[in-house]
Amino acid sequence: MSKAKCSPGITLSHFNRKIQDLCKALMNEHFVFRFKKHIRNSVCNKTAIDLAGEMRCTFPAFNGNRLNLEKHLLKSLAEKEDFDAFITYIRNPRKQVEAFIKEKVNTHMLGEHKDKALSILRKNVEDINKLVIHRGDTDMWAKEFSSLLSDKLTLDAISCQNFKDIKNFDFLQETIEKGFVSITKTISQTSLDKMKEFRLRPDQILIDQLCNCCWETCPFCAAVCTNTIKDHSPEDHSVPFHRSQAINGWHYRNTEILCVDFCTTQVASEGSFYPCHDSNHTIPFKKYRTAGPPYENWSITPDESKLKYWTWFVCQFQEKLENHHGLKFTQRGEIPSEWKMHDKKEAIQSLDEMYSTN
Ligand SMILES: [Zn+2]
Ligand SMILES: [Zn+2]
Repeated sequence: MSKAKCSPGITLSHFNRKIQDLCKALMNEHFVFRFKKHIRNSVCNKTAIDLAGEMRCTFPAFNGNRLNLEKHLLKSLAEKEDFDAFITYIRNPRKQVEAFIKEKVNTHMLGEHKDKALSILRKNVEDINKLVIHRGDTDMWAKEFSSLLSDKLTLDAISCQNFKDIKNFDFLQETIEKGFVSITKTISQTSLDKMKEFRLRPDQILIDQLCNCCWETCPFCAAVCTNTIKDHSPEDHSVPFHRSQAINGWHYRNTEILCVDFCTTQVASEGSFYPCHDSNHTIPFKKYRTAGPPYENWSITPDESKLKYWTWFVCQFQEKLENHHGLKFTQRGEIPSEWKMHDKKEAIQSLDEMYSTN
């Protein structure tokens, strides 16, 4: 090795001494432990990214836009008929969407598609094992040594290029390979279950990708804005389908009568509303935007159509909704009889019809 190849300010003997220290350090259990952890992290992180990517391509709930994800979530909620989950979705939609993603990823990884997930993990384990024991790949571990030992040896003066020039490289390589026997063995035993312990998880990757959007809810019916951009002002919040305001607890003041109407119907009506529970004056629905924020930032198009999904929901959970809000579907808030003519199957079908036109 010529001196010119060493970094300035370091002598050849100084450099060789550092290499000897390095070889000693390599035999140190602590180093093997740290390196093992590092490699296992790499395998699990890579697998998490691959699995998330795979699910985004093949999983119907994850391979479209936000509206598509919402459709699958609503289908799943209807199938389970779990009122508490519905309430979480209405009160805190993001929380329920995250729970849905987690549940689907878990089923995917540990259930029906376990073999596929496992083969992705095994491939990454194989790849990293090959990389670790491959003689030519010195850059990776050279960088690792530097970071591990920089505190006591100030190895930043030794570049990866220098490692390739070491005359007794064979010895160094042999030492490293000894330590790696146990590392590769441990890595090969990594299971899908173990992946839950790591920083990057496929469900979290999907949550980051799919939930990075607008979460504002309609002030009347609490439907979530479907804009895929987190902060899309000055563009109005909007949603292709609204719901009965009763779902959000709207009722006639000083009565226990729930307001069963959809907000899309209301904004075309001659009625008016109190913008806050303690407001002294009413605002005509037709001029709802004049009530200020959050009303003024919503675009609610007057429309007579009612998604069967939500009329079914109100009928199906009438009593539970009444108990939840401490109010009643009675008198002018009575549920229209035609709403009761649709079953769950039709409710779910209405989602497909609605979403295919948006
Ligand atoms: Zn609404
Ligand atoms: Zn929005």
